[in-house]
Amino acid sequence: MVRLADIAYPSLRQITAFLSPRRIVFGIDSRKDLAKEIRRLEGSRPLIVTYAEPKLISTVEEIVKILRSDGMDPIVYDQAEPEPRIEVAENLATYARNGSFDVVIGIGGGSAMDLAKIASMSVTNPKPVRDYLGVDLVPKKGSSLVCIPTTAGTGSEVTMFSVLSVGKKKMDVASPHIIPDVALIDPFLTATMPPQLTAGTGMDALSQAIETVTSLAATPLTDCLALTAIQLAAKWLRAACADGSNLEARSGMALAATLSGLAFGSGKLTLGHSLAQTFGPARKISHGLSCGIALPYVMDFYLPVIPERLSLIAEAMMVETRGLSVSEAGKVAIHTVTKLVEDVGIPLSLKEFGFAKGEMSELAEICAREWPRPNSPRELTDQAVREVLEKMWEGRILA
Ligand code: NAD
Repeated sequence: MVRLADIAYPSLRQITAFLSPRRIVFGIDSRKDLAKEIRRLEGSRPLIVTYAEPKLISTVEEIVKILRSDGMDPIVYDQAEPEPRIEVAENLATYARNGSFDVVIGIGGGSAMDLAKIASMSVTNPKPVRDYLGVDLVPKKGSSLVCIPTTAGTGSEVTMFSVLSVGKKKMDVASPHIIPDVALIDPFLTATMPPQLTAGTGMDALSQAIETVTSLAATPLTDCLALTAIQLAAKWLRAACADGSNLEARSGMALAATLSGLAFGSGKLTLGHSLAQTFGPARKISHGLSCGIALPYVMDFYLPVIPERLSLIAEAMMVETRGLSVSEAGKVAIHTVTKLVEDVGIPLSLKEFGFAKGEMSELAEICAREWPRPNSPRELTDQAVREVLEKMWEGRILA
């Protein structure tokens, strides 16, 4: 059995910073405290950014009612879209700049919250959104920002990222100035997610946490968060998919998502998200689903170099590892994750999404070029990535 204290952290030989929102409010019915949170931020003119999702209409109406009864007059912008395009972000930026809003509230999944971040920053940063794509290019903090997730996956409510689709590519605005001031997490709001969305978004949370554990930038702090997120997802994801109204399971997954966001925001992601962000947009496979498909293969890829870290994952998933070598325990982690992916109905081969085997070389080249990960414990060469993608195409797992 490996203990956290036995792990060698390359990150401890450098200076590291941990970033997070100033307030994280968590709990069933916490949405009812939104007006109080806005007053605390000295806001009075809120802009709500969301999408016209039929299952969220009553949630948005309730929030508007709560704010109105506190004397505010919120404006609802419901033109957000899943995996938002840069053009949508530019339109929203113009809208936000013209509205003299002093607080932006993002209600929805990662896509709506990521657009809310754009609205908030645009109030004080006048250039086109496109100019802020990249790391640390946003000069000033924007309006106050509250993010309220309605999926349990991305952890965007606590991160410094806004992910936008630019043509067929995914690109980030990455800046401490877009970290929400308040993350308000009410697991009740995730109860309307159907099983497939629950599974895909849950896999996003799990893969963020697992990739952070595999990262050379992981710290003891990010590991505490990531391993707890893994434990929660192992315990609650099946139950949340089987019965969406199980609020204990929804709470477990909501917490898993927030913890995974806190973890990866500083500990960083590795090959899984590079792959997902390459093949997902190529076939319009949702972000969470893409992460789930890639996850077991990525663990398999890292097993030879960080078996002790994979064995920590097995223990977090509450699997018995006594008497096993670290390598055997690492394999157990891969099998346990694979079983979870299968149990929640996620296919495990790229063939099933209509890819041809010949496309793997080009995808590998794009993945290695566009999504390099200096913090990956194995170098992501074209060839290494192609080998992983070919296994994924065939559905050939595992160690
Ligand atoms: P999403 O926001 O893209 O929404 C997916 C679908 O779920 C939409 O059709 C939406 O209408 C629906 N939906 C949302 N909440 C619902 C509910 N409660 N009930 C029923 N339907 C609901 O989904 P997501 O997976 O949360 O976000 C994915 C996006 O987030 C991607 O663009 C991804 O790249 C990005 N992302 C951002 C970060 C970050 O740190 N900013 C991290 C990971 C991923």
